[in-house]
Order: sequence, then structure tokens, then C-alpha cells
Amino acid sequence: MSKITDVIIIGAGAIGCCIAYQLAKSKVKVVVIEKTQPGCEASSAAAGMLSPRYDPAGHKSYFDLSIASYQLYSTLSEELKDLTGVDIELLHYGTLELFLDEDDEKEGRYLHPFQKEVGLATELLTSEEVLEREPALSKTIRGALFFSKDCHVNNPRLVEALARGALQLGAEFMVGKPVTAVLKENSRITGVQVYDETIRGNTIVIATGCWSNQIGSLLTYPLPVEPAKGQMVATTVFPPLLHHVVSSRKVYLVPRLGGDLLIGATVEFVGYDKQVTLEGVETLIRAALEMVPSLAGKPLTRTWAGLRPYCRDLLPILGPIPGMENVIVATGHFRQGILLTPITGKLIQELIVDGKTSLSLEPFSPKRFAI
Ligand SMILES: Cc1cc2nc3c(=O)[nH]c(=O)nc-3n(C[C@H](O)[C@H](O)[C@H](O)COP(=O)(O)OP(=O)(O)OC[C@H]3O[C@@H](n4cnc5c(N)ncnc54)[C@H](O)[C@@H]3O)c2cc1C
Repeated sequence: MSKITDVIIIGAGAIGCCIAYQLAKSKVKVVVIEKTQPGCEASSAAAGMLSPRYDPAGHKSYFDLSIASYQLYSTLSEELKDLTGVDIELLHYGTLELFLDEDDEKEGRYLHPFQKEVGLATELLTSEEVLEREPALSKTIRGALFFSKDCHVNNPRLVEALARGALQLGAEFMVGKPVTAVLKENSRITGVQVYDETIRGNTIVIATGCWSNQIGSLLTYPLPVEPAKGQMVATTVFPPLLHHVVSSRKVYLVPRLGGDLLIGATVEFVGYDKQVTLEGVETLIRAALEMVPSLAGKPLTRTWAGLRPYCRDLLPILGPIPGMENVIVATGHFRQGILLTPITGKLIQELIVDGKTSLSLEPFSPKRFAI
């Protein structure tokens, strides 16, 4: 069997679904190919925090990308609700980054002016001020950096809304089978093979998260993305104990609507293993209890793990592959793929439809891995 489309998107995580949604909005014919089910990998495992941060030792262009994405969320949330009826639960809770000891406090005080300088709403809080906001926190907390504009979303719902939106606007999804080969004619990729089916397209988008290196191998172009496992646990606390996201260098706690409290996350380089381990769960729970001792009697309601797409230079990989201009990569979003979903969808749509983007993709280009 053979099918022809404008754009083939490989991978239906948040990234692939958002690109499909944006393209379908522009009336581009899209086929999304997903080896399992939309959103059932990293994109549903995530905690959904939308927390742009400026790293003085990192890339300013990465910060600009994060802020641009953050700013798209309100409109996207409204748009998806109107179109699909799915509420992605965009909540403006703010984040308290806690100082557990003197070193944390020093680091927080050092980072504070940098965050303010780039326009993030950041306040240094004393221990008393933190406890006023969150009385359930341990009295040993030494203070916090408060990011009052941070938000979070219900990420499984985000993927559901994007996939439904794309479908409603005419995108087609092929689920349950992986792309196993690419079709080449001279230096051009003309389509992909999904077992016995051939799908031909003018443009191919690779949005395969931590499996992107496998598609890179099919193309013989290096896409050095590795899986970075994150384990999570959840409890239910009703009425809620916490009214902000609280985090420390050891763990973060994310209160969801309805009383779920997510506790995450480990970062482990153990290949494609997604097992939840006793050690992982123990580490998360111990760190959570250190921050909020009264959680001790609450039920453990769920545990899970997901694989983040990690790239060694900590930047996403976005843009056309050199020498294969009709193949576009959108991967490597590591710990901030949910935050970066709206801007990735927008920029890849602009690249395909207009041939240029409103923010430069240069710093994120796959060119940096050319041999
Ligand atoms: C525990 C945890 C907590 C996180 N918390 C946050 C957070 O709070 N905030 C934030 O911004 N980010 C967070 N992240 C990161 C975020 O989840 C990821 O960066 C993001 O989901 C990556 O999206 P993706 O679509 O690229 O990848 P994925 O969601 O993994 O999607 C890739 C898809 O490609 C499919 N695929 C792979 N190979 C093939 C093939 N050959 N053929 C067809 N389909 C294929 C896969 O089945 C998968 O569905 C977290 C991640 C984890 C694991």
C-alpha cells in the first residue's frame, strides 16, 4: 500500500503533535506516524512545569526560545479548549525554589540578579516568608527564590488536545507501527516505510524524542540524542497541602487540580530501561518528606518513568539536516520539552510554510553534528 502527503511527521509526542496541529491549522496535509500511541512516552511522563530560567553559563538563545514558548501558552490553551473541549489545566501557581542549606542559599543569591536582569519575576524570600506561603514546609528551610509567573500544565491532556486538534483540522494519524526505513532518491528523502506500507511526502519531520538517533542512523546523519530516564511518584492530598510548585536541588513537588501531588524526578542514564526501581522511589520520597514532613502518612498512588530526549550540549535540535533540506529535525528537548512545545510547533510550521522562522534556529541546527 502507498500513501502521498505534504508532510510526514515521525513521532506523536507533544512535539510531533504540536507541529501537526500548527501545520493542519495552515491547511497543510499531514500524516503523523507513531509506533505506539500518541503521547505515551516522555510527554505523558512529565511533570508539566513551565519554568523558564536563565543560566548565566548557558545560551541566551535557549532562554529566548523558552520565554517565547512560555508566552504562547495562554493563547494555545484557550484555542485548544475552544476547538477540542480539552482543558490542559494551565495553572499559574508560581515556583518556590527552596534553600535546604547554606550552599543552596549562596547559589540562589548568586542567580537571583541574573534572573531579574532578563525580566523573570523573581523574589528572594526569607524562611518566614516561605512558611507564610507554604505552612506545610519543614521549618528547617532557609529561604527560597520565588518565581511568581511560573505555570504548569496537565501534560497528558496537552498531548490529547494537540492530537485531537490536529485530527479535527484534517491531520491523519497512523498509530501502532514504527517507521522502519526511509526512501531515498539521489540525495532527497521522498518518504518512509512503515512495515509493508509506503508513505511519500515532500517534507519529513523527525520528532521521535530519545529514539531520534535511530532515525538518524536510517538517514546516515548523526542525531546524538540519548534517553535520560526520569522516575516519578504521586500521592493524593485533599484538601491540597501545597499551593505552589516547590522544588529543591533534590526533588520537586507539583500540585495538580483534584489533589494529586507529583514528586519527581530522577535523572538516570541507563539506556531504554523504563523500570521504576525501589532505589528511585526511595530517593524521591525521602527528599519529599525532608521538605514536607506531613506527607509521611499519605498514600502512594502511582509510580512511573519516562525517557527524556537528552543531547550532550543540552540544546534541542531544530531545523533542516544539511544536504537533506526536506528533512527537518525537532528533538532533544531534554527536561523542558513541555515548556518548549508551543514554540517548536510554531517555528517548524513557519519553516515549512514560509521557508523562514520568526526566531533564528541557527543555534539549534543539526549542522553542529555534521562529520
Ligand atoms: C519524568 C519526566 C519529567 C519531566 N518534566 C518536565 C517538565 O516538568 N517540564 C517540561 O517542560 N518537560 C519535562 N520533561 C521533558 C519532556 O517530557 C520531554 O522533553 C518531551 O516530552 C519530549 O517530547 P517529544 O515529543 O520530543 O518526545 P516523546 O514524548 O518521547 O515522543 C516521541 C514519540 O516518538 C515515537 N517514536 C519513536 N521512534 C519512532 C519510530 N521509529 N516510528 C514512529 N514513532 C516513533 C515514540 O513512540 C514517542 O511517542 C519531563 C520528562 C520526564 C521523563
